[in-house]
Amino acid sequence: MKNPILVAVSAIVLLAPALLPAEDTLPLKAVNRANEIIDAALEAYGGADTITKLNSVASKSHFTTWATNQSRSPGPPWDKGETINFAAIDFENKTFVGKNRGSGGGFDCNTSQIIKGEEGWQVSYRGGTVTPIAEPSFDTTSGPFIRVTAPLLVKQLQNRRQTSHWLGEVEFDGRPHDVITLVMEVGPALSLYFDQETHLLSRSERVLPPFGQVDYRFLDYEVIDGIPFAKTFKLFVNDQPNIHIEIQTIDVNQSIDQYAVVPENLEMLETPPPAPTEVALQEVEEGVFLVGAAGTYAMFVEMDDHIVAIGGTAGIPDRIAAMREVVKDKPIKYGVMTHHHNDHILGVPAYQAEDAMVLTVKDHEAIMRAAATDADSLKLQFVEDRYVFDDTSRRLEIIDIGPTPHSEHLLVAWLPKEGILFEADHFPNPANGRMQPAQPVTKRLAEVIDDLKLNVKIIVGAHSPRIASIDDLRRSLALTPVKVAQQLSSMDSSPEGP
Ligand SMILES: [Zn+2]
Repeated sequence: MKNPILVAVSAIVLLAPALLPAEDTLPLKAVNRANEIIDAALEAYGGADTITKLNSVASKSHFTTWATNQSRSPGPPWDKGETINFAAIDFENKTFVGKNRGSGGGFDCNTSQIIKGEEGWQVSYRGGTVTPIAEPSFDTTSGPFIRVTAPLLVKQLQNRRQTSHWLGEVEFDGRPHDVITLVMEVGPALSLYFDQETHLLSRSERVLPPFGQVDYRFLDYEVIDGIPFAKTFKLFVNDQPNIHIEIQTIDVNQSIDQYAVVPENLEMLETPPPAPTEVALQEVEEGVFLVGAAGTYAMFVEMDDHIVAIGGTAGIPDRIAAMREVVKDKPIKYGVMTHHHNDHILGVPAYQAEDAMVLTVKDHEAIMRAAATDADSLKLQFVEDRYVFDDTSRRLEIIDIGPTPHSEHLLVAWLPKEGILFEADHFPNPANGRMQPAQPVTKRLAEVIDDLKLNVKIIVGAHSPRIASIDDLRRSLALTPVKVAQQLSSMDSSPEGP
């Protein structure tokens, strides 16, 4: 038997190298340095204890928005809109309230979202309705508010230290900054710029496909209840202004229960089923297919010896694959792009891969080429007012109904014999079939239907699986926006009220 003392001594000798500091590797340095920066930031934002106890924030803001790649015309200057926003968060109770009122893109918005733990509701003050949310998520819904509120990002860093790495030092606004990462519960990682002298957050960045680089600026700090808040916030997308927020009021650590009340004087609707995630094909009429999932749909129309595809939203290759299970042999000869918005041109490479001719208007040529896999070889056919397909199978008309409040040019597909109209972004068609008061864009669509004397029976769209009837459109037009006395009272300090 060995001498126990000797065994112990040799164990210490063997362990000794492990007790020395680990080699200063790049990743270890990135973690350690991030921790130092987080500690300094916590100090600058009132101390670690203050940020731990920062449980609720309620704020009212004025938003100026620019519709980047979503304006009526293809290029800048982008259409400007204004929104009044109210947001309140309570971490302990997993409660979030977000309210928005404003106009943009031919839509009037007056809504709120309430998330209380496992429950959630979407309130439409315009429609006078409350719709329970099928799968409410506190993290997803509160994310946008946290990302624009500097002390809440610091609170995230405190709780999610282990996700943070130091990326390096950079000059920003003529001052040295440290850049560290933050991975929130949902969404791509953020890179946060902390001023080396004040230790306050000046900027954050993330890459968000398909939009590109999103850049957040935190300005005009003001100390509220011992915590510095940036009262001005600017968001840029690919270096172009997208949102400018002026915060008007901020309440810290007050109960937000009063805001999280589901209005009782509005009509409570049934919980809609969650949006389907599996691509589904519906035969609207013989040889006319609406194919899609998750809020993006395309229509495929069978002609004698080819297919005409309409719509360019996300997932066109999957929609083509689903259509191919039914129509096996006919080539897609044409792909119709309804308009130039960035979420409606994603199909261009898919149609190019099918060797199809892309139908658009002359004004959108540059956008379509930029969206293509190969700009030069993209085959384009420009629609002037109307482009007609006509053979023994059927007649299909592609009509430019622009200008509308949403787009200078907008192509719709019209099947006169079947009475089927396919549109994008002009007729909200909720999955539960409950029509909301007609938006300005919907009114314009209805005018066009009357002016052109289209005998529409069925309307299908780029964002809904639902096949609507012309009566649904009429019902929507007959509804008027509801005025609710106490709507948004929590965010309206103006004497004239909502
Ligand atoms: Zn659009």
